[in-house]
Amino acid sequence: MRCIECGKAHDMAKPVYACSSCGNLLEIRMDRAAALARLAKGDLQRRPISVWRYRELLPVGANSKIFSLNEGGTPLIRCDALGRELGLRELYVKFDGTNPTGSFKDRGMTVGITKAAELGMKVVTCASTGNTSASLAAYAGLAGMKCVVLIPEGKVALGKLAQAMMHGALVVSVKGSFDDALDVVMKSSDKLGMYVLNSVNPFRIEGQKTAAFEICDQLNGSPPDYLYIPVGNGGNSAAYWKGFAEYESLGVVSSHPIIRGIQAEGSAPVAKMFATGADTLTPVKKPDTVATAIRIGNPANWKKTVRAIKESGGSASTVTDGEILAAQKKLATVQGIFAEPAGAAALAGLIKDVRAGELDKSSRVVCVSTGHGLKDPDVAISQSVKPKVIDATLDALGKMLEG
Ligand SMILES: *Cc1c(COP(=O)(O)O)cnc(C)c1O
Ligand SMILES: [Zn+2]
Repeated sequence: MRCIECGKAHDMAKPVYACSSCGNLLEIRMDRAAALARLAKGDLQRRPISVWRYRELLPVGANSKIFSLNEGGTPLIRCDALGRELGLRELYVKFDGTNPTGSFKDRGMTVGITKAAELGMKVVTCASTGNTSASLAAYAGLAGMKCVVLIPEGKVALGKLAQAMMHGALVVSVKGSFDDALDVVMKSSDKLGMYVLNSVNPFRIEGQKTAAFEICDQLNGSPPDYLYIPVGNGGNSAAYWKGFAEYESLGVVSSHPIIRGIQAEGSAPVAKMFATGADTLTPVKKPDTVATAIRIGNPANWKKTVRAIKESGGSASTVTDGEILAAQKKLATVQGIFAEPAGAAALAGLIKDVRAGELDKSSRVVCVSTGHGLKDPDVAISQSVKPKVIDATLDALGKMLEG
């Protein structure tokens, strides 16, 4: 476990999230030779596709007890109807909303909670726009740990709140934004002895990188040319890049996708860096978007994600809430995929690029759909036609259909 900035090594057997010298985030570095040796005798490709198919590439002890809900192994759905509309030859959606609690967070949480148990932690915590708390609550219950989640008051989608409460977490509503809640959580870890499972926790990122391995495997070893992905705190985009880069360095694949990070216009500090060429992040004070999962003004992982996107040869840009909602509706009506708004932001970014003529149409493109539409029923209902009420007669139905 090393600092992303100064490279200082940190003990993996201790609960730390920031460099003791310079305060930057930590990351797990793979021992390439050891990984190759383990892969050589392994039978990865014969196991069912899931996060734990890649166990040898994850930083958990060989004898550790794994806490799993069978996360990962999510479908890579070929979207021909949508592809035809956009004039794209090969379009896929990686539907990570089909994970056990309905978002990609489960990939990170199964590894994070497994690690928390290794470290002997009894209480886990996070700040959350919703999905992290839903996922953490479920896995904490599974592992018999106490769970405290901090959410921004009044800003969490109904389904996500229901999950965190139902799984037995102590849900605390904070008067402030997600960024304010994360601030409190980070301070509390030392003082109150709670283990933090936000994406500043490098083990979360390790679990999430498996989505990139899966995409390569699902495409029979030919990675896509482009990966479109929403960026909130920036953990998942960094995780995908880590996965693609590791698979390439291990020689499992021989190329990697260009990463296009997509943010909502009202909370786009990372996209702004790419637009202006700035080399540090200027936080957005009052982030706002219908896509609550990416309503984040001060992304904790900005350095990781900016580096990841640049290394891939990509960039970050924005879409409006209107574009996000149109993409969400399109995905649901044309492809049968019900994503929450943040889970449609990547597609909205792709549509925008295609319309601007910025994409070679013979490209193989994957859009990551990060969360399930049932998470946020209010937004879905508000942009759909309300049910019509009729008498219970065939006549009434016929008349209604004529009209
Ligand atoms: C957490 C989340 C995101 C943002 O991921 P980051 O790692 O914070 O960039 C996007 N979409 C959904 C549905 C999420 O739950
Ligand atoms: Zn450092």
